Amino acid sequence: MQSFSKELKKKGKSIAVVPTMGFLHEGHLSLIDTARSKADAVVVTIFVNPTQFGPNEDFEKYPRDFERDRQLCESGKADAVFAPSPEEMYPGNASTWVSEEDLSRGLCGKSRPGHFRGVTTVVAKLFNATLPDMAVFGQKDAQQLAVIKRMARDLNFSLEIIVAPIVREKDGLAMSSRNKYLSPDERKNALSISQALFSAENDVKNSRLNIEEIINKIKSKISAFGGKVDYVEAVDADTLKPATEKEGRILLAAAAFFGPTRLIDNIIIDVK
Ligand code: AMP
Repeated sequence: MQSFSKELKKKGKSIAVVPTMGFLHEGHLSLIDTARSKADAVVVTIFVNPTQFGPNEDFEKYPRDFERDRQLCESGKADAVFAPSPEEMYPGNASTWVSEEDLSRGLCGKSRPGHFRGVTTVVAKLFNATLPDMAVFGQKDAQQLAVIKRMARDLNFSLEIIVAPIVREKDGLAMSSRNKYLSPDERKNALSISQALFSAENDVKNSRLNIEEIINKIKSKISAFGGKVDYVEAVDADTLKPATEKEGRILLAAAAFFGPTRLIDNIIIDVK
């Protein structure tokens, strides 16, 4: 992978990397489009990273379809797909971790201990493998984005982090490889997350409800549709510190289980 990137660099070409866990959907493809619009060459990485899954999470059953992904990358005009094996990425005696210790603590970090350590470690390794000038991440994983930006700054990675907006199904559900797990009923009920977030945006901008009341309203809506709320929080979009007033760039982030499937979604509300 490094030889490929170094060859491109010798020719003066810029490289954008799009890290993914595969089972690609329109959300991933929009990241590839963004990458292509910004750089001369696009590398898509496909790696279901074992170190970011907890012991009781879905690593084994995470959906995989390499051939389909490869074709989608080709039709999306990616220049290369980097799909290492877990053994290549983690030699048996690997003992070095990259750990961000502030932004990783709250939100998903609370319910998924070790998750962000796995993410930052693998993303650092993927940056070192692909030698990119830029890397594109989705707003869908808002906390991951904040953590990776912080890691890139703190460790002096010489690259630009580019953000791409959340791509949604026509009815509003945020696209996710995990949506495949949902039964038809769960799929219908899962819509309550995005709907609750959209009406929360309206509540923040146009109602007299305070932040706590708005959060409780989101929780009630998700619960009313059978979702088991993991968290709903309002935080500053950059620092991820709790937002208690209706001001600045507020990230409203939610995580909830529908059946065994944990879904996340968020919305950023710019309060003028
Ligand atoms: P994943 O394969 O789920 O690890 O996601 C790989 C990248 O795609 C991450 O930067 C995600 O934030 C991004 N992504 C996943 N789903 C979406 C979506 N619905 N819209 C935009 N980006 C997404």
